[in-house]
Amino acid sequence: MSAAPIYLDFNATTPVDPAVVEAMLPYLRDRFGNPSSGHAYGKAAAEGLAHARAQVAALLEAAPAEIVFTSCATESINLAIKGIAFARRKQGKQHLVLSAVEHPAAAESCAYLEREHGFKVTRVPPEPDGRVDRWRLMAAVRDDTALVTLIHAQNETGALQPVQEIGETLRSRGVPFHVDASQSAGKLPVSVRALACDALSLAGHKLYAPKGVGALFIRRGISLPPLIVGAGQEHGVRPGTENVAFIVGLGAACRIAADALERSRRTITELAASLLSRLQKEIPGLTLVGDPVRRLPNTLNVLLPDVSGRLVLEACSGVLASTGSACHADSEEPSAILTALGIPRTKALGAVRLSLGRSTTQADITTAASDLARAWRSVRSAPATTKAQ
Ligand code: PLP
Repeated sequence: MSAAPIYLDFNATTPVDPAVVEAMLPYLRDRFGNPSSGHAYGKAAAEGLAHARAQVAALLEAAPAEIVFTSCATESINLAIKGIAFARRKQGKQHLVLSAVEHPAAAESCAYLEREHGFKVTRVPPEPDGRVDRWRLMAAVRDDTALVTLIHAQNETGALQPVQEIGETLRSRGVPFHVDASQSAGKLPVSVRALACDALSLAGHKLYAPKGVGALFIRRGISLPPLIVGAGQEHGVRPGTENVAFIVGLGAACRIAADALERSRRTITELAASLLSRLQKEIPGLTLVGDPVRRLPNTLNVLLPDVSGRLVLEACSGVLASTGSACHADSEEPSAILTALGIPRTKALGAVRLSLGRSTTQADITTAASDLARAWRSVRSAPATTKAQ
């Protein structure tokens, strides 16, 4: 039997932690009540919900009443951006600021408000290191700015944005600030107090909880109209009967992440450094995208020279990872995030994103590095049509 492939795509999604599964099971079996029901079964479900809310709040240093459960980060981000924008428009504020390296959930929410509701939008380009300059972003903020939204850790490059510094400055100017912490929560300390943000989004499946559950922190006192209307669940901000078992799983995942944060951050930083140095030794000319230090510890976006990263991954079935490029008809387009950093098209086509997780071992790193290098050599020596064009 061939060995299982080495999974280095933890930024795409994580497996569900076995302890998270254990926490969820009673709510799929016996504690199936509707948390809005007044009877004993309803109360048991409501207790599970309250416990999970406290666990998510603890990870973020928020108050439990400031947490709203959603179906995914995309929903949290839409809810925060559109909700704050619509509420602020009533005060004559109709301008949005975001970076040019946001996840589509934020980028498309702003584009929708621009297209359909007449908001003005400023997209701040990143510096070549993948980070947005704090002063450049602040220079885009105007008297009529309704909201600034920023990704904390960029999903493709791992670049960390200066959210704390920006949050403090925005607070002093009274401009609401939303942070997309989908990739940073559980990997780095994420405190809504330290980041001085008014709203923050996260996704369960990026931190070892199941897909289909997310959360939104919304600071007490911020008014947020719901995207969908119905009964009054989740403080009326996100009506609909709660997905209790998955929410309980998200709570457990947040507790585990908080307990394991420092240990797993140290281990993963060492493993990522080992992977990078092995790849650099075996693949001359390989470069790391973005700031070498101010980055997610688990994420390496590397440019493989003279090849298409997609073809290298196709030739390397033992390693599961991502490329940012997309295939259209007969051409391959590089990641827009990488080209926004000023990386030329042919180089950007060589990108491979390797993202490590809690279960990654040194043996995985050793094998993955030599398998990737072998695949790179075979693609590079193949006829020109299979290389980066
Ligand atoms: N924001 C970031 C930074 C992400 O990486 C992702 C998922 O890749 C999302 C938002 C959206 O998460 P979901 O697809 O779970 O809604």
